[in-house]
Amino acid sequence: MKTIDRSHLKELMQRERQLFRERHPESGVLAEDAKSSLLYGVPMNWMIRWPGDYPVFVDRAEGAHFWDVDGNEFVDLCLGDTGGMAGHAPKAAVDAVAAQSAKGITLMLPTADAAWVGREMTRRFGVPYWQFTLTATDANRFVIRWSRSITGRTKVAVHNWCYHGSVDESLIWIDEQGRTVAREGNVGAPVPLDQTTRAVEINDLEGLEAALANRDVAACLIEPALTNIGIVLPEPGYHEAVRELCTKYGTLLIIDETHTISAGPGGCTQAWNLQPDFVTIGKTLGAGVPSAAYGISAELVERIYAGTDIQRADVGGIGGTLAGNALSLAAMRATLGEVLTDAAFERMIELGERFERAVQEVISSRELPWHVVRLGCRVEYLFRPEVAKNGAEAAAGQDEELDPFIHLYMLNRGVLITPFHNMALMSPATSAADVDRHTELFGQAADGLIGR
Ligand code: PMP
Repeated sequence: MKTIDRSHLKELMQRERQLFRERHPESGVLAEDAKSSLLYGVPMNWMIRWPGDYPVFVDRAEGAHFWDVDGNEFVDLCLGDTGGMAGHAPKAAVDAVAAQSAKGITLMLPTADAAWVGREMTRRFGVPYWQFTLTATDANRFVIRWSRSITGRTKVAVHNWCYHGSVDESLIWIDEQGRTVAREGNVGAPVPLDQTTRAVEINDLEGLEAALANRDVAACLIEPALTNIGIVLPEPGYHEAVRELCTKYGTLLIIDETHTISAGPGGCTQAWNLQPDFVTIGKTLGAGVPSAAYGISAELVERIYAGTDIQRADVGGIGGTLAGNALSLAAMRATLGEVLTDAAFERMIELGERFERAVQEVISSRELPWHVVRLGCRVEYLFRPEVAKNGAEAAAGQDEELDPFIHLYMLNRGVLITPFHNMALMSPATSAADVDRHTELFGQAADGLIGR
């Protein structure tokens, strides 16, 4: 196996930073200007976490490509970290959004699109009843509330190194003593996190049973595979056992499909025949128009109807004035009906396979101690040889030098991969040529790193 010379890597990184400044002068001017009116100079604080001295400012996007204000064209494999997974500005969604905008955007009243989308979500994810929110964070927050209300319990169990949005209970990790604590960077946690949450590793069924055995856990909120610390896949039989443990201890099972919809049109829930009590999903449903949803099993709907005072629904903590608005629903109907279709997923997953094969070929032919993992049309590479079995192992596999280097190397040559880890996502508009462009650059970057 080859090793990477780290001092050489530092030099390469300096060169990439210089190249970034040369290729993005206009973005530099806009970044400087924004500092006087925006916190950290960006519209949302995490946008400063891109590699390079400042973020690239976007001019326009179409399909799987975008152009920055300096006129550079990019293959977009980040796709808004799944928010743009339908491809940018897909015609069917753009037309539906334009038509609905001209007819009214938000009214506090339903439109006919909502029940159509509900039925389509049931076809995909199995659970029969749906509600709509604007973000996956809200969908998760609301099903946690329902779970507490239905079970009369307070705690939530989540996977170590999970991410489910800015949901207080989930911004945790397991510390060296095995305790659930606020993860580094958690801003203003309302209470010590062990009061609300029990974190367990994915694939640790003994740990999960120990977490549930006190019968004080209202819900298990999990992704079917971890996707926010690289991809960590479940071991065979894991989900069947999770379902059994939840049933045994009276804990509700929430499956968050926001990213794992990459596995197919109905996410892992459909692809692996999972049996959740609640499903949550956001980001991509409305082709980027804020849209999210949660689905509820028939049994839980009965319990909600029996135990909730609907006369107080406006102040019950499950709401949002703009939730379920006409524009989001029109966008979702068009996106699910005409863009992110079953046929589109077949093509997207084939492209994911092409991406995975090509990256593996670069790794093998250069004898690099790296590996690649795929979940449907979502692919991720890690700069270590062993495939991670849980969140802690995946976190240990992050490389603070190689990760930013590869991101910046790609970005400087017109390919955008997802920040924070090395993820590439395929949209219906992504082409084989887009995938091959990444492969070419990945090979070149690898050669540069090993001095070939
Ligand atoms: N669930 C998962 C699995 C996510 O990865 C994210 C965001 N990355 C969310 C929920 C929250 O999405 P949003 O920030 O759009 O609310």
